[in-house]
Amino acid sequence: MSNTHISPSGRSRLDTRHLLSIADLHRPDIDSLLDLGETYLDLSVQKDARNNVLAGKTLINLFFENSTRTEKSFELAGRRLGADVINMSMATSSASKGETLLDTATTLNAMNPDLLVIRHSASGAPALLSQKVSCAVINAGDGAHEHPTQALLDALTLRTRLGGVDGLRIAICGDILHSRVARSNVQLLNILGAEVRLIGPPTLIPLDADQWGVEVYHDMESGLKGCDVVMMLRLQLERMSGSFVPSKREYFHFYGLDQRKLEYAAPGALVMHPGPMNRGVEINSDIADDPDISLITRQVETGVAMRMAILHLLSQSGGVDA
Ligand code: ASP
Repeated sequence: MSNTHISPSGRSRLDTRHLLSIADLHRPDIDSLLDLGETYLDLSVQKDARNNVLAGKTLINLFFENSTRTEKSFELAGRRLGADVINMSMATSSASKGETLLDTATTLNAMNPDLLVIRHSASGAPALLSQKVSCAVINAGDGAHEHPTQALLDALTLRTRLGGVDGLRIAICGDILHSRVARSNVQLLNILGAEVRLIGPPTLIPLDADQWGVEVYHDMESGLKGCDVVMMLRLQLERMSGSFVPSKREYFHFYGLDQRKLEYAAPGALVMHPGPMNRGVEINSDIADDPDISLITRQVETGVAMRMAILHLLSQSGGVDA
């Protein structure tokens, strides 16, 4: 596939140098990213899904937290665009020997990467890194703060399945308090014109959620009423200090998605989950594995195309060539 086949209907660069938060993106940026993501998704089913728009560029994946799908998704996206991709699993690196994030930044900078993808347990770590390195930085999840590429791939998944996001009623359910996916999705879905609801026990809804431009519900029956899309979230046990739910069994009883609760939503409602799933805790297998209802596998597939679009446009937005 040659580069000339890539023609996003929007602009060919973004107004931002880094992607740290959905707030970095103006509406035209979002449209350009989704348009190009859709182009890459169409191309991904073709025999040669690659191009060389990042040939000669270096992409470093810097993951301080474990990841399966996001790290592999960025790796595949980078390779399909012809970049040299280096995966640095920081759990086994000098970070575990006490090196600070800023020392790591200095070391990486000396390797002259063009794009740096970072996941870190501390909110704000990607923003800090972006001030210290001379390349484009992409936030692949920072603490409970943001996960902007997940929100973009979720929007693209909805757009390609339902034709758009505008006017959809979307419920985000579960552990909102610890979820960076929820924080990025609420912002993006609001920008794209969806009506967003949050559903969860009071202990797992942030105190300021009423200022997020959403409606908050504490029971699935009233929250799911008329929803076109139900986005389930994992209980983020690794971010919980103390007990936020009585037991996983009781949590499933009230908030786990099964056929009975899904019937509260609009007929034909679709289900999403960013993964990894805890089956039997927030979602039942018969829903997660039903291709007529579940978009979960589709989200993973769309993720690679969306990240190709993000890498492509960011590489032309001052982080690489300017
Ligand atoms: N994979 C998503 C994240 O990194 C969701 C999750 O871990 O539950 O935030």
